[in-house]
Amino acid sequence: MKGFAMLGLNKVGWIEKPTPAITAMDALVKPLAVSPCTSDVHTVWEGAIGDRHDLILGHEAVAEVVEVGSLVKDFKPGDKVIIPAITPYWETVESQMGYHQHSGGMLLGWQFSNVRDGVFGEYFQVIQADGNLALLPDNVTVEEGVMLSDMVPTGFHGADNAEVAYGETVAVIGIGPVGLMAVAGANLRGAARIFAVGSRELCQKVSKLYGATDLINYKKGDVVGQIKEATHGKPVDKVIIAGGTMEAFEWALKLVRPAGIISNINYLGSGEYFKVNRVDWGLGMGHIKIVGGLMPGGRKNMEYLSNLLKYKKLDVSHLLTHRFKGFGHIEEGLLLMKDKPKELIKPVVTI
Ligand code: NDP
Ligand code: ZN
Repeated sequence: MKGFAMLGLNKVGWIEKPTPAITAMDALVKPLAVSPCTSDVHTVWEGAIGDRHDLILGHEAVAEVVEVGSLVKDFKPGDKVIIPAITPYWETVESQMGYHQHSGGMLLGWQFSNVRDGVFGEYFQVIQADGNLALLPDNVTVEEGVMLSDMVPTGFHGADNAEVAYGETVAVIGIGPVGLMAVAGANLRGAARIFAVGSRELCQKVSKLYGATDLINYKKGDVVGQIKEATHGKPVDKVIIAGGTMEAFEWALKLVRPAGIISNINYLGSGEYFKVNRVDWGLGMGHIKIVGGLMPGGRKNMEYLSNLLKYKKLDVSHLLTHRFKGFGHIEEGLLLMKDKPKELIKPVVTI
């Protein structure tokens, strides 16, 4: 079969590989729609997870089941399924502790295009199909469904980890597709005021559709100053970091209230450290939590998040700015994600 792969650091291309073999609990699926991700860009062009050779890229897909192992109970060939970016083994100690994202070791619930071939192949293997697949609701398109693989669960994880509550003020730093879903998640959880920090006009406009109340352009002045001016010097309750550099942590510490939460979902692809200012962190006694999380995957999360689309509580179509038809367009989509033209939020390729 053909697949679009990382050939090595800074190198991508099409390769031939054998169709993957499955075991008794797995499914073999073929993609119906895929979406390239900023994380693929960190992986290839920043070497964020180290060097990889001939590793098929991609972790966001809606697919059709082609074959299932003998122990798979709930899925059959022909089913249209949502593929979560995170597809862990569910029996590990880490999964039992509630952190399936790290099943088997740090970040190892992230299997696709990390420890096994990703979804940019003509076929791919999903381990533990009953635990990791979810049926795509009939009234959700395959293109919208792909946003459930990663963008929705990651953004919402940012809002969940920030423990956003009714009436709170939240700053979301970075409003690409992930940050936009963090805005939507914070809004659904009841935030009253949401600062959306980005510079591209389209993302700013879309952030308003998802619940942002205040737009901050980081290219037009100091972010902390602009937000503090709008709040008359008051701190915000929570900060969600979904883009930018390590400096965002310094801003967040200056913005957040005592006992507030800084929730990072940004993939820190380069640089080594971020700074924690002693005074901003309450001299070490401010009860300010800094938490960073990989999105939760698996069947239950996909089923519940897809309900939001099924019952029209969340419209992900605003994210889909570039639509391609045909497997061959994956490369174009990925290069768009790398170059981030101003009219781009998210590309999707239907197959
Ligand atoms: P985008 O590149 O589309 O968006 C990044 C956002 O950050 C944009 O709004 C951009 O603004 C803003 N930004 C860029 N530079 C700065 C800066 N110096 N200061 C402030 N803001 C800045 O990325 P995505 O939304 O696709 O992804 C966001 C991150 O989430 C990525 O690192 C991705 O790898 C990661 N991710 C994490 C996952 C997880 O499980 N935790 C899963 C999936 C993705 P503008 O472009 O408007 O100038
Ligand atoms: Zn992704």
